[in-house]
Amino acid sequence: MADAPAECNIKVLCRFRPLNQSEILRGDQFLPKFQGDDTVVVGGKSYAFDRVFPTNTTQEQVYNTCAKQIVKDVLCGYNGTIFAYGQTSSGKTHTMEGKLHDPHQMGIIPRIAEDIFNHIFAMDENLEFHIKVSHLLHTNLSVHEDKNRVPYVKGCTERFVSSPDEVMDVIDEGKNNRHVAVTNMNEHSSRSHSIFLINIKQEHVETEQKLCGKLYLVDLAGSEKVSKTGAAGAVLDEAKNINKSLSALGNVISALAEGTKTHVPYRDSKMTRILQDSLGGNCRTTMFICCSPSSYNDTETKSTLMFGQRAK
Ligand code: ADP
Ligand code: MG
Repeated sequence: MADAPAECNIKVLCRFRPLNQSEILRGDQFLPKFQGDDTVVVGGKSYAFDRVFPTNTTQEQVYNTCAKQIVKDVLCGYNGTIFAYGQTSSGKTHTMEGKLHDPHQMGIIPRIAEDIFNHIFAMDENLEFHIKVSHLLHTNLSVHEDKNRVPYVKGCTERFVSSPDEVMDVIDEGKNNRHVAVTNMNEHSSRSHSIFLINIKQEHVETEQKLCGKLYLVDLAGSEKVSKTGAAGAVLDEAKNINKSLSALGNVISALAEGTKTHVPYRDSKMTRILQDSLGGNCRTTMFICCSPSSYNDTETKSTLMFGQRAK
Protein backbone atom coordinates (compact mmCIF):
# COMPACT_ATOMS: atom_id res chain seq x y z
CA MET A 1 0.00 0.00 0.00
CA ALA A 2 1.01 3.59 -0.48
CA ASP A 3 2.24 5.89 2.26
CA ALA A 4 0.06 6.76 5.22
CA PRO A 5 -1.28 10.30 5.14
CA ALA A 6 0.44 13.07 7.02
CA GLU A 7 -0.66 13.57 10.62
CA CYS A 8 -4.41 13.94 10.77
CA ASN A 9 -5.64 17.40 11.60
CA ILE A 10 -8.17 19.92 10.49
CA LYS A 11 -6.91 22.42 7.99
CA VAL A 12 -8.56 25.80 7.76
CA LEU A 13 -7.90 27.86 4.66
CA CYS A 14 -9.17 31.31 3.97
CA ARG A 15 -9.88 32.62 0.47
CA PHE A 16 -10.89 36.17 -0.51
CA ARG A 17 -12.55 36.79 -3.85
CA PRO A 18 -11.83 40.05 -5.77
CA LEU A 19 -14.19 43.05 -5.56
CA ASN A 20 -16.92 42.64 -8.17
CA GLN A 21 -18.11 45.24 -10.68
CA SER A 22 -21.03 46.56 -8.65
CA GLU A 23 -18.89 46.85 -5.50
CA ILE A 24 -16.31 48.85 -7.43
CA LEU A 25 -19.01 51.09 -8.94
CA ARG A 26 -20.48 51.67 -5.49
CA GLY A 27 -17.04 52.77 -4.29
CA ASP A 28 -16.67 50.00 -1.68
CA GLN A 29 -13.32 49.74 0.04
CA PHE A 30 -11.08 46.71 -0.26
CA LEU A 31 -10.78 45.56 3.37
CA PRO A 32 -8.26 42.72 3.73
CA LYS A 33 -4.54 43.27 4.25
CA PHE A 34 -2.62 40.09 3.54
CA GLN A 35 0.45 39.27 5.64
CA GLY A 36 2.73 36.40 4.65
CA ASP A 37 0.81 33.41 3.36
CA ASP A 38 -1.22 32.62 6.46
CA THR A 39 -2.52 35.86 7.95
CA VAL A 40 -5.09 38.45 7.01
CA VAL A 41 -5.91 41.69 8.82
CA VAL A 42 -9.48 43.00 8.66
CA GLY A 43 -10.57 46.04 10.61
CA GLY A 44 -7.36 46.13 12.63
CA LYS A 45 -7.78 42.52 13.81
CA SER A 46 -5.48 39.82 12.60
CA TYR A 47 -6.66 36.32 11.69
CA ALA A 48 -4.25 33.42 11.16
CA PHE A 49 -5.12 30.23 9.26
CA ASP A 50 -3.19 27.32 7.81
CA ARG A 51 -3.16 29.33 4.64
CA VAL A 52 -4.69 32.56 3.36
CA PHE A 53 -5.31 32.90 -0.37
CA PRO A 54 -5.39 36.50 -1.63
CA THR A 55 -7.75 37.50 -4.43
CA ASN A 56 -5.39 36.73 -7.30
CA THR A 57 -4.91 33.05 -6.36
CA THR A 58 -5.71 30.71 -9.24
CA GLN A 59 -7.98 27.67 -9.07
CA GLU A 60 -4.97 25.49 -9.84
CA GLN A 61 -2.95 26.95 -6.95
CA VAL A 62 -5.84 26.33 -4.57
CA TYR A 63 -6.21 22.75 -5.78
CA ASN A 64 -2.50 21.93 -5.60
CA THR A 65 -2.11 23.36 -2.11
CA CYS A 66 -5.19 21.85 -0.53
CA ALA A 67 -6.89 19.04 -2.34
CA LYS A 68 -4.31 17.09 -4.29
CA GLN A 69 -2.97 15.23 -1.24
CA ILE A 70 -6.46 14.34 -0.04
CA VAL A 71 -7.14 12.51 -3.30
CA LYS A 72 -4.04 10.38 -2.75
CA ASP A 73 -5.11 9.62 0.81
CA VAL A 74 -8.63 8.61 -0.21
CA LEU A 75 -7.13 6.21 -2.74
CA CYS A 76 -5.18 4.73 0.19
CA GLY A 77 -8.42 4.05 2.05
CA TYR A 78 -8.83 7.18 4.15
CA ASN A 79 -11.99 9.25 4.38
CA GLY A 80 -12.06 13.00 3.96
CA THR A 81 -14.24 16.08 3.82
CA ILE A 82 -13.71 19.43 2.12
CA PHE A 83 -16.11 22.26 3.03
CA ALA A 84 -16.68 25.75 1.75
CA TYR A 85 -18.16 28.12 4.33
CA GLY A 86 -19.12 31.77 3.84
CA GLN A 87 -21.93 34.18 3.08
CA THR A 88 -23.78 34.04 -0.23
CA SER A 89 -21.61 35.34 -3.07
CA SER A 90 -18.32 34.91 -1.19
CA GLY A 91 -16.91 32.33 -3.64
CA LYS A 92 -17.95 28.95 -2.20
CA THR A 93 -19.27 27.50 -5.45
CA HIS A 94 -16.41 29.09 -7.40
CA THR A 95 -13.98 27.26 -5.09
CA MET A 96 -15.77 23.89 -5.03
CA GLU A 97 -17.09 23.71 -8.62
CA GLY A 98 -15.94 26.75 -10.57
CA LYS A 99 -16.62 26.59 -14.29
CA LEU A 100 -16.90 22.86 -14.86
CA HIS A 101 -15.56 22.51 -18.39
CA ASP A 102 -13.03 25.35 -18.32
CA PRO A 103 -9.49 24.04 -17.63
CA HIS A 104 -8.40 27.29 -15.92
CA GLN A 105 -11.57 28.17 -14.06
CA MET A 106 -12.69 24.74 -12.94
CA GLY A 107 -12.77 24.28 -9.18
CA ILE A 108 -11.86 21.54 -6.75
CA ILE A 109 -14.51 18.92 -7.59
CA PRO A 110 -13.82 18.60 -11.33
CA ARG A 111 -10.06 18.63 -10.65
CA ILE A 112 -10.52 15.83 -8.11
CA ALA A 113 -12.52 13.84 -10.68
CA GLU A 114 -9.69 14.13 -13.22
CA ASP A 115 -7.02 13.38 -10.65
CA ILE A 116 -8.72 10.24 -9.36
CA PHE A 117 -8.89 8.69 -12.83
CA ASN A 118 -5.31 9.73 -13.62
CA HIS A 119 -4.11 7.96 -10.49
CA ILE A 120 -6.18 4.88 -11.21
CA PHE A 121 -4.87 4.51 -14.75
CA ALA A 122 -1.33 4.65 -13.36
CA MET A 123 -1.95 2.04 -10.66
CA ASP A 124 -1.53 -1.73 -10.49
CA GLU A 125 -3.59 -3.43 -13.21
CA ASN A 126 -4.66 -6.06 -10.72
CA LEU A 127 -6.68 -3.50 -8.80
CA GLU A 128 -10.33 -3.23 -9.71
CA PHE A 129 -12.02 0.07 -8.90
CA HIS A 130 -15.67 0.87 -8.23
CA ILE A 131 -16.34 4.58 -8.02
CA LYS A 132 -19.75 5.78 -6.96
CA VAL A 133 -20.79 9.41 -6.77
CA SER A 134 -23.88 10.96 -5.27
CA HIS A 135 -25.17 14.46 -4.90
CA LEU A 136 -27.23 15.24 -1.81
CA LEU A 137 -29.23 18.36 -1.19
CA HIS A 138 -29.97 19.41 2.35
CA THR A 139 -33.62 20.06 1.58
CA ASN A 140 -34.36 16.43 0.79
CA LEU A 141 -31.98 14.65 3.10
CA SER A 142 -33.45 11.91 5.14
CA VAL A 143 -30.96 10.28 7.49
CA HIS A 144 -31.46 6.70 8.63
CA GLU A 145 -29.31 4.32 10.61
CA ASP A 146 -28.48 0.74 9.76
CA LYS A 147 -28.44 -2.03 12.35
CA ASN A 148 -24.94 -1.02 13.46
CA ARG A 149 -26.15 2.56 13.98
CA VAL A 150 -24.14 3.78 11.02
CA PRO A 151 -26.01 6.68 9.44
CA TYR A 152 -26.89 6.59 5.76
CA VAL A 153 -28.96 8.83 3.53
CA LYS A 154 -32.11 7.53 1.95
CA GLY A 155 -33.44 8.68 -1.37
CA CYS A 156 -30.33 10.24 -2.87
CA THR A 157 -29.24 9.38 -6.37
CA GLU A 158 -26.11 7.31 -6.71
CA ARG A 159 -24.23 6.51 -9.87
CA PHE A 160 -21.24 4.35 -10.71
CA VAL A 161 -18.82 6.35 -12.85
CA SER A 162 -15.93 5.37 -15.07
CA SER A 163 -14.62 8.71 -16.32
CA PRO A 164 -14.29 12.36 -15.21
CA ASP A 165 -17.03 13.29 -17.73
CA GLU A 166 -19.49 11.00 -16.00
CA VAL A 167 -18.68 12.75 -12.72
CA MET A 168 -19.37 16.13 -14.39
CA ASP A 169 -22.75 14.81 -15.58
CA VAL A 170 -23.74 14.07 -12.00
CA ILE A 171 -22.62 17.56 -10.92
CA ASP A 172 -24.66 19.12 -13.76
CA GLU A 173 -27.71 17.13 -12.72
CA GLY A 174 -27.25 18.16 -9.11
CA LYS A 175 -27.05 21.82 -10.15
CA ASN A 176 -30.34 21.52 -12.04
CA ASN A 177 -32.04 19.86 -9.09
CA ARG A 178 -30.78 22.57 -6.78
CA HIS A 179 -32.03 25.23 -9.15
CA VAL A 180 -35.51 23.68 -9.26
CA ALA A 181 -35.59 23.32 -5.48
CA VAL A 182 -34.58 26.96 -5.08
CA THR A 183 -37.01 28.48 -7.59
CA ASN A 184 -39.89 26.59 -6.00
CA MET A 185 -39.20 28.35 -2.74
CA ASN A 186 -39.38 31.87 -1.47
CA GLU A 187 -36.26 33.97 -1.97
CA HIS A 188 -35.48 33.91 1.73
CA SER A 189 -35.17 30.17 1.79
CA SER A 190 -33.05 29.91 -1.34
CA ARG A 191 -30.21 28.46 0.68
CA SER A 192 -29.30 24.82 0.91
CA HIS A 193 -26.22 22.71 1.53
CA SER A 194 -24.94 20.79 -1.44
CA ILE A 195 -23.08 17.62 -0.54
CA PHE A 196 -21.18 15.71 -3.20
CA LEU A 197 -19.92 12.27 -2.22
CA ILE A 198 -17.23 10.28 -3.99
CA ASN A 199 -16.97 6.69 -2.84
CA ILE A 200 -14.00 4.63 -3.97
CA LYS A 201 -13.81 0.86 -3.52
CA GLN A 202 -10.87 -1.14 -4.76
CA GLU A 203 -10.25 -4.83 -4.80
CA HIS A 204 -7.17 -6.80 -5.75
CA VAL A 205 -8.29 -9.38 -8.31
CA GLU A 206 -5.92 -12.07 -7.02
CA THR A 207 -5.69 -11.51 -3.28
CA GLU A 208 -9.27 -10.15 -3.04
CA GLN A 209 -7.93 -7.58 -0.59
CA LYS A 210 -10.36 -4.67 -0.36
CA LEU A 211 -9.93 -0.99 0.40
CA CYS A 212 -12.57 1.74 0.69
CA GLY A 213 -12.28 5.48 0.96
CA LYS A 214 -14.78 8.26 0.62
CA LEU A 215 -14.66 11.96 0.18
CA TYR A 216 -17.40 14.47 0.96
CA LEU A 217 -17.29 17.77 -0.90
CA VAL A 218 -19.60 20.24 0.74
CA ASP A 219 -20.75 23.60 -0.62
CA LEU A 220 -22.49 24.92 2.49
CA ALA A 221 -25.55 27.15 2.49
CA GLY A 222 -24.76 30.86 2.81
CA SER A 223 -23.86 31.73 6.40
CA GLU A 224 -25.52 35.18 6.44
CA LYS A 225 -28.02 35.93 9.16
CA VAL A 226 -31.59 35.83 7.95
CA SER A 227 -33.51 38.88 9.10
CA LYS A 228 -36.46 37.81 11.19
CA THR A 229 -38.74 40.38 9.60
CA GLY A 230 -38.41 39.05 6.04
CA ALA A 231 -39.25 35.43 6.69
CA ALA A 232 -42.22 33.71 8.27
CA GLY A 233 -43.79 30.27 8.71
CA ALA A 234 -42.22 27.37 6.86
CA VAL A 235 -39.67 29.67 5.22
CA LEU A 236 -38.44 30.94 8.55
CA ASP A 237 -38.28 27.37 9.89
CA GLU A 238 -36.14 26.36 6.93
CA ALA A 239 -33.81 29.33 7.48
CA LYS A 240 -33.48 28.53 11.18
CA ASN A 241 -32.81 24.92 10.28
CA ILE A 242 -29.92 25.94 8.00
CA ASN A 243 -28.45 28.26 10.63
CA LYS A 244 -28.76 25.53 13.23
CA SER A 245 -26.94 23.03 11.04
CA LEU A 246 -24.12 25.53 10.41
CA SER A 247 -23.64 26.16 14.09
CA ALA A 248 -23.80 22.40 14.79
CA LEU A 249 -21.02 21.98 12.24
CA GLY A 250 -19.02 24.74 13.94
CA ASN A 251 -19.40 22.97 17.29
CA VAL A 252 -18.28 19.63 15.88
CA ILE A 253 -15.24 21.12 14.13
CA SER A 254 -14.22 23.11 17.18
CA ALA A 255 -14.57 20.05 19.46
CA LEU A 256 -12.43 18.06 17.01
CA ALA A 257 -9.86 20.86 16.75
CA GLU A 258 -9.55 21.08 20.51
CA GLY A 259 -8.75 17.37 20.45
CA THR A 260 -9.26 16.92 24.19
CA LYS A 261 -13.04 16.67 24.20
CA THR A 262 -14.44 13.19 24.66
CA HIS A 263 -17.83 14.27 23.39
CA VAL A 264 -18.12 15.49 19.81
CA PRO A 265 -21.74 16.56 19.19
CA TYR A 266 -22.19 14.80 15.83
CA ARG A 267 -25.80 13.97 16.59
CA ASP A 268 -26.92 17.60 16.80
CA SER A 269 -27.68 17.91 13.08
CA LYS A 270 -28.42 15.73 10.05
CA MET A 271 -25.38 16.97 8.24
CA THR A 272 -22.90 16.21 11.03
CA ARG A 273 -24.45 12.74 11.42
CA ILE A 274 -23.93 12.06 7.73
CA LEU A 275 -20.35 13.35 7.80
CA GLN A 276 -19.46 11.68 11.10
CA ASP A 277 -17.21 8.94 9.68
CA SER A 278 -15.40 11.42 7.44
CA LEU A 279 -14.62 14.13 9.99
CA GLY A 280 -11.90 14.02 12.61
CA GLY A 281 -10.36 10.77 13.81
CA ASN A 282 -8.45 9.16 11.00
CA CYS A 283 -9.80 11.53 8.32
CA ARG A 284 -8.62 14.47 6.32
CA THR A 285 -10.74 17.53 6.98
CA THR A 286 -10.30 20.82 5.14
CA MET A 287 -12.46 23.88 5.60
CA PHE A 288 -12.42 26.80 3.18
CA ILE A 289 -13.44 30.07 4.74
CA CYS A 290 -14.69 32.17 1.81
CA CYS A 291 -14.83 35.94 2.18
CA SER A 292 -15.88 39.04 0.32
CA PRO A 293 -13.24 41.81 0.43
CA SER A 294 -15.83 44.60 0.30
CA SER A 295 -16.37 47.08 3.14
CA TYR A 296 -20.09 46.60 2.44
CA ASN A 297 -19.84 43.02 3.81
CA ASP A 298 -17.69 43.96 6.77
CA THR A 299 -19.90 42.38 9.45
CA GLU A 300 -20.46 39.09 7.65
CA THR A 301 -16.77 38.81 6.76
CA LYS A 302 -15.73 39.24 10.40
CA SER A 303 -18.24 36.66 11.54
CA THR A 304 -17.03 34.24 8.83
CA LEU A 305 -13.40 34.75 9.91
CA MET A 306 -14.41 34.10 13.54
CA PHE A 307 -16.13 30.87 12.51
CA GLY A 308 -12.86 29.76 10.89
CA GLN A 309 -10.85 30.71 13.98
CA ARG A 310 -12.95 28.39 16.14
CA ALA A 311 -11.56 25.47 14.17
CA LYS A 312 -7.97 26.43 14.95
P1 ADP B 1 -21.24 31.59 -3.38
O1 ADP B 1 -21.28 30.22 -3.93
O2 ADP B 1 -20.45 31.72 -2.11
O3 ADP B 1 -22.61 32.19 -3.24
P2 ADP B 1 -20.00 32.20 -5.91
O4 ADP B 1 -18.93 31.17 -5.91
O5 ADP B 1 -21.18 31.94 -6.75
O6 ADP B 1 -20.46 32.52 -4.41
O7 ADP B 1 -19.30 33.58 -6.29
C1 ADP B 1 -20.03 34.76 -6.56
C2 ADP B 1 -19.45 35.43 -7.81
O8 ADP B 1 -18.10 35.83 -7.61
C3 ADP B 1 -19.44 34.49 -9.00
O9 ADP B 1 -19.76 35.23 -10.15
C4 ADP B 1 -18.01 34.00 -9.07
O10 ADP B 1 -17.63 33.64 -10.38
C5 ADP B 1 -17.23 35.19 -8.55
N1 ADP B 1 -16.02 34.74 -7.82
C6 ADP B 1 -16.02 34.09 -6.65
N2 ADP B 1 -14.77 33.83 -6.22
C7 ADP B 1 -13.95 34.33 -7.18
C8 ADP B 1 -12.52 34.40 -7.34
N3 ADP B 1 -11.68 33.88 -6.42
N4 ADP B 1 -12.03 34.99 -8.44
C9 ADP B 1 -12.86 35.51 -9.38
N5 ADP B 1 -14.21 35.49 -9.27
C10 ADP B 1 -14.75 34.92 -8.20
MG1 MG C 1 -22.97 29.07 -4.31
